[in-house]
Amino acid sequence: MGFIDFQHASIRQKVSSLFLVLLSFLLCVIVYSVFKLQQLNQDMREVAYVDIPLSKLVTQLEFIELEQHLQLEEYQLQQQQHQTLKPHQQLVFQKRKLKALQDRAVQLLADSLQQHHVAFNVAEHQQVEQQLLRYQQLSEAFEQHLSQIYQYAEVEESALTQTEALAAQLETVQKALLQRISQMTSKDANFTEKQEQDFFIINVILGVGALVIGLMLTIYITQIIVRRVNRIQSKIKRFGDSLTVENNAPLRSNLPNNRDELAELEHDVGVLMRQLSREIASREQVEQKLLQLATRDKLTGVFNRHKWDEQIQQSLGLAERGYPFGLILLDIDFFKKVNDQHGHGVGDKLLKLVASVLQNDTRDIDTVFRIGGEEFVIICPMQDLARTTTIAEKVRVAIAQTHAPELPSVTVSAGVATYRASDNAATILQRADKALYQAKAQGRDQVVSEAALN
Ligand code: GH3
Ligand code: MG
Ligand code: MG
Repeated sequence: MGFIDFQHASIRQKVSSLFLVLLSFLLCVIVYSVFKLQQLNQDMREVAYVDIPLSKLVTQLEFIELEQHLQLEEYQLQQQQHQTLKPHQQLVFQKRKLKALQDRAVQLLADSLQQHHVAFNVAEHQQVEQQLLRYQQLSEAFEQHLSQIYQYAEVEESALTQTEALAAQLETVQKALLQRISQMTSKDANFTEKQEQDFFIINVILGVGALVIGLMLTIYITQIIVRRVNRIQSKIKRFGDSLTVENNAPLRSNLPNNRDELAELEHDVGVLMRQLSREIASREQVEQKLLQLATRDKLTGVFNRHKWDEQIQQSLGLAERGYPFGLILLDIDFFKKVNDQHGHGVGDKLLKLVASVLQNDTRDIDTVFRIGGEEFVIICPMQDLARTTTIAEKVRVAIAQTHAPELPSVTVSAGVATYRASDNAATILQRADKALYQAKAQGRDQVVSEAALN
């Protein structure tokens, strides 16, 4: 698995990789806790299974030893009173009990050491085991003496002294043993307690660590998001300011007390989108205007010479592919006179009027162009010569019959031509012009088709 390019990773990738770090940390805490708990459990078991039973056994031993001492005292007392006593049976029972207890203590220690129940203070436990064995030996020696004594009615003073010395020695060893065990037990207990405390402190530190890491991650992620949002917002603002639309709503105008950066961003994007759509609409209007200026004649509103040049090429192209067209060339009759008699302004108005009649009396698919001072061309798609002539005639009559207040009536002459194979703009217009010339020559206010040309 390759490393993630953190700088360019998605927010989801960033957040998940940061949480992976946090989770790994928490996993380490859990593994550590489990390991530590097991160790503590081991220590507790050591105290529970080894040290405490051992103390109990040794206490019981002490108790039996005490009983034996009492017996000895009693025996000595009876000796002084010259009474004979046979406590042999009692002694045998006690001896067995004592032996069993000692054996159990030694066995317990040996087993614990062998099975590795003792993890802490092994050397000390081994020393206790040695001490126990020594105690056992002494105890046996003491019992032997006792049993010898009990066998005789009269015992020598020296034998009694020896027994007493042995008893004292046994007591010393026993006390030392007990002390050692209790020390060992309390040491073990203290150690376990300290382990518990350490475990608690380390767990608290790890927990606080996890919390701090989590907090830092949260702050870091929040900072990343806020920084990005701010950057996007300033870009949006700059972009919004660069838009040319008038009355641009200032960003955040409707969110005066909002503290949610993402909501603000959403709002800003919304405002920007509205600004953009207004901008697009206004640009479309400007384009429309520009297009109109580029293609329409300023005075009459019909298509201009520039558009004619473009459109005739398109129509020729279509005609080559089997969609022919008819062409009508019109010229106002005696227009110079109108200008001269009524002024240029009236001439302009008449030009507008003629153009509107041409537009209104042709089909929607026919296109009207003003290509000269008072010369117009009409392209009639999918029309043959006869039908184009009919359209021209219809237009001529309409113009002749138009009477506008305060304007003189005018007539037009027209020449009609249709597409022929290998025609270009000049050749077809030339034929129409010839027909127009003939119409003028034949007296004006009439339509001549190219078929009538000589
Ligand atoms: P004909 O019947 O032979 O066509 O006679 P005509 O007087 O119309 O002759 P011609 O076509 O040569 O004259 C065109 C005149 O149109 C010349 C010019 O004064 C006038 N004219 C051209 N452009 C404009 C315009 O934009 N406005 C006005 N008012 N007159 C124009
Ligand atoms: Mg003319
Ligand atoms: Mg003219």
